[in-house]
Amino acid sequence: MSSNNRIPMIAGNWKMHLVSSEAAELATAIRKALPANLRHDVLLAPTFTNLHSVHEAIKDSPILLAAQDMAWEEKGAFTGAVSPAQIKDAGCTHVILGHSERRHIFLESDEMINKKVKTAIKDGIVPVLCIGELLEERESGKTNDVLAKQLDGDFAGITAEEASKVIIAYEPVWAIGTGKTATPEVAEETHQFIRSHMEKMYGKAFADSVRILYGGSVKATNVDQLMAQPDIDGALVGGESLKADKFPRVIDFQKI
Ligand code: PEP
Repeated sequence: MSSNNRIPMIAGNWKMHLVSSEAAELATAIRKALPANLRHDVLLAPTFTNLHSVHEAIKDSPILLAAQDMAWEEKGAFTGAVSPAQIKDAGCTHVILGHSERRHIFLESDEMINKKVKTAIKDGIVPVLCIGELLEERESGKTNDVLAKQLDGDFAGITAEEASKVIIAYEPVWAIGTGKTATPEVAEETHQFIRSHMEKMYGKAFADSVRILYGGSVKATNVDQLMAQPDIDGALVGGESLKADKFPRVIDFQKI
């Protein structure tokens, strides 16, 4: 572990995969394979309909549960949406917000994501806030501007104390589900930029303590190199987290 006090987190985003019995089976396999000396956070984010079965499967284990999204309203006429109280009732302590698939397929804006982050904080749910640039934005040298705009928008009107509840996940869109991982150096450089931007927004103590996960084709074979970077505090993992024979090795990463 690096010299900071940030507790690493390995999170699995199961997206729109598995039915509830399969999700429970996978959660059970992951639970059984947890390292005996686990000292960091492990988070699973199944589809809404699988939250209950996974919650049962991880009961009395250190594994934490997240929803993959959440409404910004508490209740009401919002067909298809799921409320903060409903995900808490299903056992969630965390919620993924602003995932690139929500931003780019479902056209969620920073304004919408900001409302969700505020609601999650108010309701005591830890947001795992995803940000990241598109390939053309990286290639045209706009990465830092894009990330700064997302951070400014997503944290608008949020105090430092409130913001301290948030975990950030840097997920370059070009690396999600593509098999192309950012090199550890590129990921580290971008995490440093995010931390420096958080320092501008909330000060040095805040920037030193905010957890920033990396996401984008993290695998059992590359997690160690990524986790060796001083500003990478964990991983948000899609495809590899669905593999019962691979995800435990991601969870049991080795600092090299
Ligand atoms: C993700 O879903 O957030 C993700 C990073 O997916 P993958 O690991 O498959 O690239």
